[in-house]
Amino acid sequence: MRTRGTIIIRGIVQGVGFRPFVYAQARKFGITGTVKNLGSEVEIHAFGDHFEEFLAAVSRGTPLSRIDSVDIQDLRGNPPDTFTILESGSGSRSGFIPADVATCDDCIADIFTPGSRYEGYWATSCVNCGPRYSIITAIPYDRERTSMTAFPICSACESEYTDPSCRRHHAQTIACAGCGPHLALFKAEGTPIMAVDPIKEAAALLDGGSIVAIRGIGGFHIACTEEAAGELKRRLGRTEQPLAVMATAEEVERIAVVSDEERRALHSRERPIVVLAKKDPASLPTISGLHTIGCMLPYTGLHHLLFAHLAHPLLVMTSANLPGYPMITDLETALGRLSGEVDYILTHDRRIVNRCDDSVVRGGYIIRLSRGLAPKRAAIDLGDRCILGVGPELNANVSVYRNGFCITSPHVGNVRNPQTLAYLEETAERIGGIIGARYDLIVHDLHPQFLSTRYAREVAEVAGAELLAVQHHRAHIAAATREECVGIAIDGVGYGDDGTIWGGEVFAGRVPHLDRVAHLEVVPMPGGDLATRFPERMLYGILPTSGVRDLLSSRGWSEMELAVLTRQVERGLNVAATSSTGRVLDAASALLGICRERTYDGEPAMKLESTACAGKVTAWEIEFLRDGGCEVLSTRSLLAEAYRRSAAGAQVNDIAASFQYNLARGVAVMAIHAAEERGIPRVALSGGVAYNRAIRETIAGEVQAAGLEVVMNQEYPLGDGCISFGQVVYGGSEEE
Ligand SMILES: [Zn+2]
Ligand SMILES: [Zn+2]
Repeated sequence: MRTRGTIIIRGIVQGVGFRPFVYAQARKFGITGTVKNLGSEVEIHAFGDHFEEFLAAVSRGTPLSRIDSVDIQDLRGNPPDTFTILESGSGSRSGFIPADVATCDDCIADIFTPGSRYEGYWATSCVNCGPRYSIITAIPYDRERTSMTAFPICSACESEYTDPSCRRHHAQTIACAGCGPHLALFKAEGTPIMAVDPIKEAAALLDGGSIVAIRGIGGFHIACTEEAAGELKRRLGRTEQPLAVMATAEEVERIAVVSDEERRALHSRERPIVVLAKKDPASLPTISGLHTIGCMLPYTGLHHLLFAHLAHPLLVMTSANLPGYPMITDLETALGRLSGEVDYILTHDRRIVNRCDDSVVRGGYIIRLSRGLAPKRAAIDLGDRCILGVGPELNANVSVYRNGFCITSPHVGNVRNPQTLAYLEETAERIGGIIGARYDLIVHDLHPQFLSTRYAREVAEVAGAELLAVQHHRAHIAAATREECVGIAIDGVGYGDDGTIWGGEVFAGRVPHLDRVAHLEVVPMPGGDLATRFPERMLYGILPTSGVRDLLSSRGWSEMELAVLTRQVERGLNVAATSSTGRVLDAASALLGICRERTYDGEPAMKLESTACAGKVTAWEIEFLRDGGCEVLSTRSLLAEAYRRSAAGAQVNDIAASFQYNLARGVAVMAIHAAEERGIPRVALSGGVAYNRAIRETIAGEVQAAGLEVVMNQEYPLGDGCISFGQVVYGGSEEE
């Protein structure tokens, strides 16, 4: 029986109340010694008769911790008389950066307890909750390495901070109204509003129909009531885009269908936006024209206080940024950029060090990996090299691999403009810096012109690192599994090996050797990116028939426009070639008159999905072609079938549902053929189109019915938020 030893606990042990927890266990078991944070590990020197019980207790960890390993070494020297918490040391830095955590129930209770030290204080937190990533400049996570260092703690906070029996023992974010950050309310043009209680005042303004920017944990939101949503969309110039809402739990249950799993996600400490099916698909039309609505519960003290004062149980709560641009994090920028969009700004003086947008999940899958979920850490063995994956162009983030861990950053955005590129660079430097990365390999997209590709070259040159280009859809599959598989990647667009635009791809093999074995029919995209914005161009590109020309003419296309489009398609002038799944769904959406212009990412396909929800499914004849060694699903014949049914007067929602179903079935059939030919037992699925529940479930159902396993990675986005991780996995698999 041991009575002394050095215990090294590795994993997520920082910023999760681990040292106070160890202290409490030491007291409980009469252990003396010390505990010290060393970045991604905790080192405990322990002496006492109940060493074994103490070891068992500390090995279980705290609610927010995750333990990778527990090692015990011999310990010499004389036992001290007490157990003490030592200052953090630098130690090893491989691993963990704490993510932001929603305000816990105990802290909410403190805020609403009359006479409590924290009554009404919006930034109340404890070891179990509060901002983390958004305020840290470095690890180990201690107050002096966060933006809370600007707020020296008062004696009352100090006594809780040093009291081992208190929930705020060593809580780095401890603060009260006396010593912590403060709120302020401004008119949008910058005039301060003197309010005794800025939150109460803001609630009254919102109830009265004003649009208010609210500074949150990782950036500004724009909030308003349902009644003001139309006006907000008009001001933002985004009349069609669905907006997320923040609402009380009762209100969410009233407006949406909530499964047990979705309820758990809503109430989780990560508090993501959960995309839910509306109870009445036609409800809240000014907020979301789709059958779904993104809902989140209040997740900070400020939000809870706001809802306590509001008469409305639901607010629109959308990130304050242009689509694809970084979220606004400071007051100066908010005053400069938001003055035409909002009426008031509710802000605070705690600096946001690292921007962090809300996470979004749907049906158990991550759409946006961000606040609460990221920085995301995966224990994975990718060898000795330190690797950076710079992501794709749209919905980008970065991943950094070092010493058995891959860290994926929060969502960055669309790296098509200098601001977002700067944010990508800043994020890569911050995360790389925090974990002490010195890159050996930089992995980027195959597209030679992406800003992220140029950035990768620059970093490689400075670091003297190797460069590796990985095709977009192979990165999708690498993010799904490293096992031998047939991999289906269905999404918008990605640069292909042959310079065409891929997006409906089936691979076979094992990372890093994935062969393209099947794909959707390669069709023309007249006008390139214009065909993405105006999906009727895509429709005519796939189905250049007189019937489609007549349809477009009946919808107001002029003879001139049609003549230009026809010539373009016939002669192949300014026409890109694509096997994208997204573009085919866009074309169907245009054919059925559901969406004629895309005003936000994924709009035609999302509206098609909403229309298809109420439709009946019929199996259509599916035609397959050959292209060299690849099997090809004829999307032209599917669209022609949809056209015939539409012309014959069939129900739009039935055609939409059947189109999705037969497209999905066709993709599944090609994957099953590939798996059976090669004796591969599993099919991996990734790509943004897989968020479409009907398509995902049809593919999974067909594949399983063929006796094959379906693999999807629910730890990472199915969309492009998984690409940087897939790139790193690819790079780390290369040497083998
Ligand atoms: Zn708390
Ligand atoms: Zn205080």
